[in-house]
Amino acid sequence: MIGQEQLSVLVTAAAGTISAHADELSELDSAIGDGDHGYNMKRGVEAVLGDLEAISAKPLPEALRAIGTKLVMTVGGASGPLYGTMFLALGKELAINPDDFAAAFHKAVDAVAARGKSEFGQKTLLDVLYPIAAALDTGKSKAEIVALANQEVTATRDRKAVRGRASFLGDRSIGHVDPGARSSALIIEAIAGKLQ
Ligand code: ADP
Ligand code: MG
Repeated sequence: MIGQEQLSVLVTAAAGTISAHADELSELDSAIGDGDHGYNMKRGVEAVLGDLEAISAKPLPEALRAIGTKLVMTVGGASGPLYGTMFLALGKELAINPDDFAAAFHKAVDAVAARGKSEFGQKTLLDVLYPIAAALDTGKSKAEIVALANQEVTATRDRKAVRGRASFLGDRSIGHVDPGARSSALIIEAIAGKLQ
C-alpha cells in the first residue's frame, strides 16, 4: 500500500509532468477540440498541489477521493469529471479491497467509461487506460507499462473520434493524437518513474 510520503511524491511528479506538458496537450486539443486540455489539466493539478499537505495526511482511499473531488471541481471540460471519476472510484475500490490494486484500477476505468458513455477504441483517454488496466498484474516491468501507454497514445492517431468534442470532426479527427490519451500516458509515466 502506498504511504503518505510516497503519495505526495507521486502526486507531485504527476502534477509536474502535466504542467510541463500543458502547452503540448493544449496544442493536441487545438487540432481536434477547443485547445484547452493542457490548461484545464494544469489548473486541476495546481489545485491538488495547493492542497497536497491535507490530502496526503489522509489514508490512501480518502486521499484519492479528495484528489478526485478537487479535479472535478477545477479541471472542467469533459476531462475534469472523467479524471475526477477515475480517482474517486479508485479511492472507493481501494477502501473495499486495499490489496488488489489492479482490480481497483480496472473498476475505476470502468467507472470512467460509464461516466463518458464510452469504451476502448473511440480515441479517448480510455484507449490508454484500458490496455494499462489489462497489463497490470501480468508481470510486465514498469518500463514495459510505460512503453505500452505511449504506444497506445500513438495508436489513437489513426482512430476516428466518436466521443467528446473531437467527434464533431468525424473523419477529420483521424491523423491526430488524442490529448486525453496523451495526458493519461504522461501521468502513468510520471508515477511509474517514482515507484520503487
Ligand atoms: P473538452 O473536450 O470539454 O474541451 P478537455 O479538452 O479537457 O475537455 O478534454 C478532452 C479529452 O477528454 C479528449 O481528448 C478525450 O480523451 C476525453 N474525452 C472527451 N469526451 C470523452 C468521453 N465521452 N469519454 C472518454 N473520454 C472523453
Ligand atoms: Mg478541450
